[in-house]
Amino acid sequence: MSRFSVVVVGGGISGLAAAWELSGGATGPNDGTPRIEVVEASERFGGSLTTTEFAGRTIDLGADGFLARRPEAVTLVEELGLRDQLEAIDASGASLWARGALHELPGGLVLGVPTSLREILHFKGVTWRARLAARRDVFLPKRLRLGNDATIGEIVRTKLGDKLSVDLIEPMIGGIQAGRIDELSAKSVFPALLDAARTGGSLMKALRPVGLVNPGPRAESVSSGPVFFTLKNGVGSLPRELARQLMDRGVVLRSSVEVTALRRTPAGSYPWEVDTLHTTTPANAVILATPAPAAAALLGSLDPAIERLGQIDSAGAAMVTFALAVDEITLTKSGTGILVPLRTSWAGDGSMMVTAVTFLDRKWPHLARNNDVILRAHVGRSDDARWMRLSDEALARRVSEELAVLLPHFGTPYETLVQRWPHGLPQYHVGHDQLIDEARAASSKFTVAIAGNAYDGVGVPASIGSGRRAARQILDATCAFT
Ligand SMILES: Cc1cc2nc3c(=O)[nH]c(=O)nc-3n(C[C@H](O)[C@H](O)[C@H](O)COP(=O)(O)OP(=O)(O)OC[C@H]3O[C@@H](n4cnc5c(N)ncnc54)[C@H](O)[C@@H]3O)c2cc1C
Repeated sequence: MSRFSVVVVGGGISGLAAAWELSGGATGPNDGTPRIEVVEASERFGGSLTTTEFAGRTIDLGADGFLARRPEAVTLVEELGLRDQLEAIDASGASLWARGALHELPGGLVLGVPTSLREILHFKGVTWRARLAARRDVFLPKRLRLGNDATIGEIVRTKLGDKLSVDLIEPMIGGIQAGRIDELSAKSVFPALLDAARTGGSLMKALRPVGLVNPGPRAESVSSGPVFFTLKNGVGSLPRELARQLMDRGVVLRSSVEVTALRRTPAGSYPWEVDTLHTTTPANAVILATPAPAAAALLGSLDPAIERLGQIDSAGAAMVTFALAVDEITLTKSGTGILVPLRTSWAGDGSMMVTAVTFLDRKWPHLARNNDVILRAHVGRSDDARWMRLSDEALARRVSEELAVLLPHFGTPYETLVQRWPHGLPQYHVGHDQLIDEARAASSKFTVAIAGNAYDGVGVPASIGSGRRAARQILDATCAFT
């Protein structure tokens, strides 16, 4: 009998993690390991994880760290033998730009939602009316009728008031996902918030046991210890090493090759043919680890539930990284960066474009030098694509002007880099979980699994977990054939 064949479409971290699991995970290949081919459209593996040289160090252009309290990323790092590369985040806290000044964020926030009344009552970054709404939540909580899901906005606006929601909660939750609290699904983005709201009493009290960093949906377990990790050679070094070790295992890795069609061939010896411009690979099973619209385009004709994956839209974002000599810049006294609420006024076109600033060399010790400072500003939200209309030069100039207002001092950078992610962050709307469950059920009938950041959480650990689960699903389903 010919060897079992699995094609993984998409060589971001989800697709590579799927190939790792297919090829035996921690223990490596054995006699039952299938032939595995990973096909990646772009010229490099890693998708949103990639590094570059900047100001004399290696920095990440996409994700620069990952949650340490979910096991998936740390486990993979250990399996690849990269444990000595792990570096814990070195600073905590951040500031919020509000009412024309920077305010240190209060303690006790769970993804931006306050849980400590004492902390929030002392926080001058929101109006006293907003603080009173928090007090009311503790002593006279508002009632809220909830169905299967709700937007994060519906919950926090009802329980904690509009001001607190827009001025404090949205910059944090919305910032992680580059989306709006009034559009994001609580069930899929912040399930602990939905559970807390369901208790019917104070939201703040009910959220307290969750802990300060919420691991998100489909987390397999939660550990104590550092909150975030990076890798000393950049998070982008993870897919590079993974791809190298996959090749050593005999996995076929093809880059600069787009999968153009998946064809069913029920009469042939393999049920699938995977087409690229110049080749066709026969396969028993396929893992689609592309963005959701690409999965819908390749497979949607088979079932309307799969076609609906095309409805998952994504927000674009850009990162503008600067290096400045130490005497050209003054940061806040402490913390890893600053958050900027939406619609923060700006002369000219109405509102600031910067949504957050990360002090990279304060966050990650290996990036720190004595003579300079590196920081990156984030722009772009699901409803703010102004950055797309600006050239790199104009965007860097605009962001510099905003930083000159946001920071105590921002002078002349000696190096600047603009990185654009036009479709970087999928948006999980209300009903997301049902849409995904139905698409998974439909695709599994054809020995196809879907994986990636559009489905089970947008972070690096969630993407790795999604890829490995897809691989296990295929291995389990195909046991029946072998
Ligand atoms: C700017 C930014 C900052 C982020 N910061 C963090 C962070 O700090 N921490 C964190 O945990 N997460 C962060 N994330 C999220 C995290 O990086 C991503 O969720 C994760 O890397 C997604 O991996 P993926 O493999 O699912 O998708 P992708 O990386 O998008 O990979 C999908 C791949 O599929 C390929 N593809 C598409 N169509 C085809 C086709 N037809 N044929 C072949 N290949 C195809 C694409 O070229 C791509 O390489 C960030 C994301 C962005 C964009």
